[in-house]
Amino acid sequence: MRKVSVAVPVPFLDLLTYSVPDGLPLPPVGGRVRVPVGPRVLTGCVVEYPSEEIAGEIRDVIEVVDHEPLLPPDIVALCRWVADYYLAGAGDAIAAAMPPGARRKATSFRTKRVAALTALGSDPSSRTGSPGLTPKQNEALEVLSGSASGLPISELRERGISSDVIGRLAARGLVTIRAEASERDPFERAVMSDPPPSIRVLTTEQSQAFEQLAALADAGDFRVALLHGVTGSGKTEIYRRLADRARHAGRQTLLLVPEIALTPSVAALFRATFGERVAIQHSGLSDGERHDQWHRIRRGDVDVVVGTRSAVFAPLTRVGVIVVDEEHDTSYKQEEAPRYHGRDVAIVRGRGENALVVLGSATPSMESYQHALSGKYARATLERRVLDRPLASVRLVNMREEYADQGPDAVISRQLAVAVEDRLQRREQVLVLLNRRGYATAVFCRQCGDTFECPNCTISLTVHTARQGWQARCHYCNYAMTVPRQCRKCAAPYLEHAGFGTEKVEQHLRERFPDARIGRVDRDSIRRKGALTSILSRFAAGELDVLVGTQMIAKGHDFPRVTLVGVISADVGLGVADFRAGERTFQLLTQVAGRAGRGERPGEAVVQTLYPEHYSIQLACRQDYASFFERELGYRRGMRYPPMVALVNVVVRGRSFDEAMSMATQLTQRLKPISATAGFMILGPAPAPLVRLRGEHRVQFFLKGARRADMRNALRAMLAETPEIRRKITVDVDPLNVL
Ligand code: ADP
Ligand code: ZN
Repeated sequence: MRKVSVAVPVPFLDLLTYSVPDGLPLPPVGGRVRVPVGPRVLTGCVVEYPSEEIAGEIRDVIEVVDHEPLLPPDIVALCRWVADYYLAGAGDAIAAAMPPGARRKATSFRTKRVAALTALGSDPSSRTGSPGLTPKQNEALEVLSGSASGLPISELRERGISSDVIGRLAARGLVTIRAEASERDPFERAVMSDPPPSIRVLTTEQSQAFEQLAALADAGDFRVALLHGVTGSGKTEIYRRLADRARHAGRQTLLLVPEIALTPSVAALFRATFGERVAIQHSGLSDGERHDQWHRIRRGDVDVVVGTRSAVFAPLTRVGVIVVDEEHDTSYKQEEAPRYHGRDVAIVRGRGENALVVLGSATPSMESYQHALSGKYARATLERRVLDRPLASVRLVNMREEYADQGPDAVISRQLAVAVEDRLQRREQVLVLLNRRGYATAVFCRQCGDTFECPNCTISLTVHTARQGWQARCHYCNYAMTVPRQCRKCAAPYLEHAGFGTEKVEQHLRERFPDARIGRVDRDSIRRKGALTSILSRFAAGELDVLVGTQMIAKGHDFPRVTLVGVISADVGLGVADFRAGERTFQLLTQVAGRAGRGERPGEAVVQTLYPEHYSIQLACRQDYASFFERELGYRRGMRYPPMVALVNVVVRGRSFDEAMSMATQLTQRLKPISATAGFMILGPAPAPLVRLRGEHRVQFFLKGARRADMRNALRAMLAETPEIRRKITVDVDPLNVL
């Protein structure tokens, strides 16, 4: 009997086995099939041909959708690694690699498709010979006969010819429909101040790093290399050269960037070298765009793919170089199932496809730098900015002194205000960072002390400016309410705001510099599709003087006219109960300071903080990565935290706290005997920092040990015994966010 193992799109489910009835062809691995799952029929993906005999009744495949693999075999293997390593369901992992719309029965090409006459359709005699054509169908053939290369279906629709009509003609063999790559839209939105040059003479330092990496790429074996280059050292140019080298060797390049907003400018730079043979993959594209780009990649029409995290699954089949730019960035970690880390998946992909994996950063993660020091990764270094531009000089402002002088409501220090004024006069640009959105972080009653907490989460509501008055919103579940004029408890009219976010900084700047053109970038200001690129383009074009924002403005951007970066509260991230807080703060400050002085004029950063003596802040100001790494590693070693050990975080959710706690206690009891022999520790259970989230109660515990495989096996055994708890727990391997 012919059998297939199928990943179906049902959360947490492992592979299911089906038999292929005699009337159907054997579907390929990586191809889709329609299969019964319970009472439903779903589209799944064939993952392997099972070797073992399966006991019990096996149901039949209903339909074979793809006769050629939709996913390349290497990608199927990569998804299986993801499912295994991150303890995710097989279908969840496969779904991460599928193009949009793949779950529908046939690949949908509704948008950006082009219809053209076939030989049969362009022959008038065969046309009249086709009985029963409707007037509309005849009209469509008429319109199409006027255009040899065909017409987009969207355009036909505008002429009153529906896709249905075209579909019927296609079914009769009179018309073909082909996918036309829709590069136009994704590439149009490039954020560039100047058009990118096609090629550049490398600096000496760049050449050395490039030669070193190129030699590794030429060897054609799997290798990981850390490209540790200060901000503005010209790493992107090296990636472009490597991609060019790979192309000459007949291989392709996959380039991952941490943020959607960075893809257009990087892609535009690559287009200057590779022309049409560049594709973009990220979740900000419309389904139609993503789908078309995906199929261009799958057909092998591109040499380079630029994309965010999920692009690590792009269906390239000849990858020679994989670049993970800003490899330290936490947005590479997916915070929903499958909870993979894009950088780590990229490394596994490189191993599977014998590629060179380049991890680029000015502030490498502790993990990557440690591997570079130990020799596990190769290392190339860029110590200087291109053209000998100096790194930004950094000034620390102690806000405690500022409060003493200006009063406790000070938002912008006098030093920062003077520096902004100075840039405005010189017509230079300013970035102002505060990594906290909203207007105020809390509301409370001055009389009775009542605060506004989210009814669903243990978190206070953030105040936002709204059309009428104030709105209080939960940043976790989106619960929102209008802030009343009086206290809900005691009716006193003394409601006050505490703390502040980007909206308030923007307001302060507007009051202080009424003539300045000010924009804001945070998750609230960019809700509308295209809003982010629009603001960034205006800033790049010099139509804005000051850009206020969260960490979104700190990453990767290259705005040559920025000469000043202000950091409002450098210590926002330090108060978080997270052993990575120091590392994150160091990275954020170094990166944001790295946005200043990238053009001809030197840059300066003014950093406001309550803890000017904290080592993360001090060393970021000196841009001293090596010292930071040493210091941080000492702390991690002392506390036995990653990268010294591996962590797995398990969150148990319940309708009540007691339910969650007792479930978590049972689980840890069951794991204890295994942990003793396998050599890992169990920490907890304990209430999660966000003990209530979206109405659920949360208790968490950690597994901590040297070998991930042992911890995974223990968890897998536990889950196999009690599959019903799968829906109540979240397992996060190598967690970055443990709230
Ligand atoms: P990084 O990613 O290392 O922060 P970028 O790749 O963004 O740096 O490069 C910083 C700036 O230097 C960009 O404006 C880029 O166009 C420019 N640049 C890079 N290489 C060269 C070069 N060899 N000569 C002149 N300018 C360069
Ligand atoms: Zn909430």
